[in-house]
Amino acid sequence: MERTEEELVDLTSRVYKLVVERGKDGVLQSEIWKELGLTSRDGSRLAIRLERRGLIGRVKVLEEGRWTYKLTPLRFPTDMASIEKAPCIVCQFESKCSIDGEIGPYNCPWIGPWAMKEFRELTQTVAPVTT
Ligand code: SF4
Repeated sequence: MERTEEELVDLTSRVYKLVVERGKDGVLQSEIWKELGLTSRDGSRLAIRLERRGLIGRVKVLEEGRWTYKLTPLRFPTDMASIEKAPCIVCQFESKCSIDGEIGPYNCPWIGPWAMKEFRELTQTVAPVTT
């Protein structure tokens, strides 16, 4: 089934958000596809979109005897305006928040929508790329 452009933009935002959340060490693309319920074909198309826009890097790696790609963020939504709007700045749980804790970015209800909004604003300044 062919996805609409709106669905593709939303999924691209979600892929970017997850890659950013995993940090500079990157993440295997298969983990992202699994989390979002994407086929490897659809996922790869979205990752290539983000790579062409200079938002993420794709590096071929050998993982458990199979070649795959590791995705790393190349650009973070970290200009001052976005930092000022980041939910973490005013979050009451900030002192208890950590990557592997009970409260953290993986289960935070505020960081995802903020990252997606930042992504949309960021990509509006970059020329569209056709796949
Ligand atoms: S990631 Fe979420 S829970 Fe953690 S400090 Fe930021 S807003 Fe708060």
